[in-house]
Amino acid sequence: MDTDAVPDLNLTAALEAVSAARSPEQLAELRREYLGKRGVAARVKETIKSLSPEDRPIVGQAVSLFTAKITEALDAADAVAGPETIDESPIDLTLRGHGRKRGHMHLVTQCRRDLEDVFVSLGYQVAEGPEVESDWYNFEALNFPPGHPARAMQDTLYVDLGEPEQVLLRTHTSPVQVRVMESQTPPIYCVMPGRTYRNETLDARHSPVFHQIEGLAVDRGLTFGDLAGTIEAFTSAYFGQKVKSRLLPSYFPFTEPSAEFALSCVFCDGSGCRVCSNTGWIELGGCGMVDPNVFRSVGIDPEEFSGFAFGFGLERMPMLRYGVEPIKTFFDNDVRFLTRY
Ligand SMILES: [Zn+2]
Repeated sequence: MDTDAVPDLNLTAALEAVSAARSPEQLAELRREYLGKRGVAARVKETIKSLSPEDRPIVGQAVSLFTAKITEALDAADAVAGPETIDESPIDLTLRGHGRKRGHMHLVTQCRRDLEDVFVSLGYQVAEGPEVESDWYNFEALNFPPGHPARAMQDTLYVDLGEPEQVLLRTHTSPVQVRVMESQTPPIYCVMPGRTYRNETLDARHSPVFHQIEGLAVDRGLTFGDLAGTIEAFTSAYFGQKVKSRLLPSYFPFTEPSAEFALSCVFCDGSGCRVCSNTGWIELGGCGMVDPNVFRSVGIDPEEFSGFAFGFGLERMPMLRYGVEPIKTFFDNDVRFLTRY
């Protein structure tokens, strides 16, 4: 076998050279050296035809083995080294990252906190109470005796615990007023935000679950004028100075006299539009002077103290401020809605 011009087919040395290579350029050079057109394998293969018939298969198998092993080793090394183009700058620091999405407060919570801030700045405390209530706190103490027709104004969801006393999901946050008056002595200035429940059919403006915020003031010498001034103060603090409020006579068992309060329409500035049914006003909630019967049920002397209370649906505020409708939008927890506010 003539080996003068024929390179040495040393598989071990070639594999060591491949594993010692550090860059894609070195690997490309080795691929040319071993497997290229004029590479080691090709040049040894050319000599086969000049060999004796018994040597040909031996050298042929050696070339095949060499080619297979070196190809495998070079491919594996290429995969680790990566393409040549990224070698100079493996990390591009100017690329934008994926970022991290942060959560934030729900629109109802934002509104509740904004209103709490307004009332705290007026000297009010914030109180909370249970959502599952007894009939006494939700109705009787608020001057709704059993069978009183005004109970029909609030379609109630009852909880059947098999107890003699009726248990229900509170239909308003007013039971918290009773609890506050039971546990504190006047003067009392307090707001009660919270979730409430009614057996209502879901439509654009009504939901079986919604939020209310109520205010209660009990002191010596409070008058209806104080109530009107308080409503004007918090509506202009929330909606801005150009929004005006007005009171219209109404009826609630727990206040006497009672009123409904309305805002000048925030969409048309009072000139009349579809939202306000061309009246220029939007009803927001109810209010009135605390009924003496309510004071008696919690042990406050109505001869010595007077008070006022007001309440409204919390969702109404962002509905008016941002034009959100229907009300179920607040409870769907659709991220596309939540991230807008
Ligand atoms: Zn309007």
